[in-house]
Amino acid sequence: MTARYLIIGSGVAGLAAAEAIRQADRSAAITLVSDDPHGYYSRPGLAYLLTGEIPQAQLFPLRETDWRALGLQRVTAQVTRLEPAAHRAVLADGRALSYDRLLLATGSTAARLTVPGSDLPQVVTLDSLTDAQRILDLARRARAAVVVGGGITALELVEGLRVHCRRVHYLLRGDRYWSNVLDAAESRLVLERLAAEGVQVHPRSEIAEITAHRGRVAGVTTTAGEHIPCDLVAVAIGVQPRVGLARAAGLQVERGILVDETLRTGAADIYAAGDAAQVYDPRTGKATLDTLWNIARGQGAVAGRNMAGANERYIKPLPLNVTRLAGITTTIIGRVGHGLDADVVGIARGDSETWRQLGEALVAEDASEVNRLRLLVGPRTLIGAIVMGDQRPSRPLQRLIGEETDITPIRERLLAPHAPLAALLAEFAESLNRQNALS
Ligand SMILES: Cc1cc2nc3c(=O)[nH]c(=O)nc-3n(C[C@H](O)[C@H](O)[C@H](O)COP(=O)(O)OP(=O)(O)OC[C@H]3O[C@@H](n4cnc5c(N)ncnc54)[C@H](O)[C@@H]3O)c2cc1C
Repeated sequence: MTARYLIIGSGVAGLAAAEAIRQADRSAAITLVSDDPHGYYSRPGLAYLLTGEIPQAQLFPLRETDWRALGLQRVTAQVTRLEPAAHRAVLADGRALSYDRLLLATGSTAARLTVPGSDLPQVVTLDSLTDAQRILDLARRARAAVVVGGGITALELVEGLRVHCRRVHYLLRGDRYWSNVLDAAESRLVLERLAAEGVQVHPRSEIAEITAHRGRVAGVTTTAGEHIPCDLVAVAIGVQPRVGLARAAGLQVERGILVDETLRTGAADIYAAGDAAQVYDPRTGKATLDTLWNIARGQGAVAGRNMAGANERYIKPLPLNVTRLAGITTTIIGRVGHGLDADVVGIARGDSETWRQLGEALVAEDASEVNRLRLLVGPRTLIGAIVMGDQRPSRPLQRLIGEETDITPIRERLLAPHAPLAALLAEFAESLNRQNALS
C-alpha cells in the first residue's frame, strides 16, 4: 500500500524531509502544506534582498523541474487543527488531509512588541518574503526608521533600512549588542562600525510608546522620555517556535515541540524538525532550540528518513553561523557565551542555545583593527571561537572544535599574552594534515 506522508511547513526542514522520504520510498504519496504563498526560499537571503544585493529570484534555489522530480503534492493553506487519533490535519477552509506519518516543520515567528502603538501598520517584523517586500515598500517612502532588538536580524534590518532611509536609529536596552554571544570588545566593534556608517545608536533606550499621526507611525518615545520622529519601526526582539498546533493536539511542548533523538514526538507517527523542534541531545542531556538553516536542514533529512522506516539518531553538528555584523564577516563556532541578552525574548534568528552553554574555559584573544579572533580554550580541546574580519582561521577552527582535537601541544602557547593565534592555529592544522597524510 502507498504510504501517505504529510509535511506541514515548506521551509528548509520540510523540504529536506520531503527529499529524504522520496529517496527512501519512490512510491510514497508526499504532501507539503504551507501557509506561505511563496513556498520554499532562502530565509537568510532576505537580508540581502533588503540591502538590494540580490534580486528576489535568487532566493528560490529550486526550478520547476526540480519540483516535478520530487513528485510532491503542494498545498498552500493554513493547518488549523491536528487530529492525531484520526491521522488527519484540518485546514482553514475546512478540508482535511489524511496521513500515515506527519512532520511538523512549522518554523518560528517573530515576537511582537506590546507597548502602545505596536499594532500600527508601519511596525514591522522580518519572518518571510512577504514581510521583506512590505518592509522594502515602506522603507522606500520613509525618511527615518527605528530598529529595536538584538541578534542578527536586528542588524540585518538596520543595514537594509540604511540603504533606503535617510536616518536609522538603533535602540538597545543596555550598553552592549548581543551580549550573550559577543564579548564587550566585539560588541563595541559592531556598534562603532554602525555609528561610522551613520546609524544613530541609542544605548540604554527602550520604547515606551509608538506615537501616531493620522493612523501612521510618527515616532517613538523612549522610557527615558526621548522622542525620536520616524515613519517606520522594525522589531527584532527574538522569535517563538510555532508550537500552537502541537500544543492543541496534546503533544509535549516546552520552548519548542519536544522530540527524542530520532526526532519523534511522544505521539506515534508524528515527528518535528527545524526551528519549531526542541531536540534532545544525548551528549549534553538537554533539549535545545536552534534557529539555524543548516541545523534545520539536517534535522529535516533525519526526520524524513525515520518517517520512511529508518531508526536513525540525530547527532547535532557543531552549531555554526557565518554572518555579517555591521559589514564585518563573523563566524560563530561552538560554545562562546552565556547569560541573557536583554534585547531578545527567548531566542533570536540565526542563533543556537548551544552557543550559550559555555562552562569552564579560558579566553585567548588576538585583535587588529576589524580583525578579531577569540578562542574559548578548554582543558584539552577548543570549545568555541568567534572569528571577525579575516576568515582564514575559520576552517581550521571548525575542524579542531568539531572533531574535539587534543590541542595540548599548543595550548600553553595559545594562552600566552599577545600570542599570534591565527599563525599558531594555521601551523597546528598544517602539522595535523601532515600526520594524517603519513598515517
Ligand atoms: C531574516 C532571517 C535571517 C536569517 N539569518 C540566518 C543566518 O544568518 N544563518 C542561519 O543559519 N539561519 C538564519 N536564519 C534562520 C533560518 O532561516 C531558519 O533557521 C530556517 O529557515 C528554519 O527552517 P524551518 O524549515 O524550520 O522553518 P521555516 O523556514 O520558518 O518554515 C516554516 C514553514 O512552516 C509553515 N507553517 C507554519 N505553521 C503553519 C501552519 N499552521 N499551516 C501551514 N503552514 C505552516 C510556514 O509557512 C513555513 O513554510 C534567518 C532567518 C530569517 C527570517
